[in-house]
Amino acid sequence: MKRPILIHPDPRLKKLCTEVDDVSDELRVLAADMLETMYEAPGIGLAAPQIGVLSRLIVLDCVKDEAEAPRPLVMVNPRVVASSDERNVYEEGCLSIPDQYAEVERPKVVDVEWMDLNGALQKETFDGLWATCVQHEIDHLDGKLFIDYLGAMKRQMITRKMVKLKKERAREKA
Ligand SMILES: [Zn+2]
Repeated sequence: MKRPILIHPDPRLKKLCTEVDDVSDELRVLAADMLETMYEAPGIGLAAPQIGVLSRLIVLDCVKDEAEAPRPLVMVNPRVVASSDERNVYEEGCLSIPDQYAEVERPKVVDVEWMDLNGALQKETFDGLWATCVQHEIDHLDGKLFIDYLGAMKRQMITRKMVKLKKERAREKA
């Protein structure tokens, strides 16, 4: 089931999310809903707080080539355990900040550990877009958005646009 995505500014997007204790059926449903919501958007990553669930759960799939098989990844309690000194700049966007993009610099390569939906510990090295995406999503679990990497002026400008967008959307619904 597709879930509504919260738009910044929203207090739930600024919260520290709590660790998931165990993989339940409820969590599997939530992960499936998040993947559906992400693909439908369309986006390459989604974190649970973006649909108002303050748990450490993210989904991502950075396969862009339509000819390539999709690679949906679900990460429970993900954490970056090592990152490269080498850095990379990507133009980032966010489903909670529609149509706004900005360059963000992050480590180019990261090692990430997480629990999968079978409760098994996984570890993988990510590079390039995958590395950027997984760091962006893990940031969401700590209440951090990509605009927090920008200067105050740029961040405030984007936030003002989002406040306006939310008002317009609320008016459309009314
Ligand atoms: Zn995001």
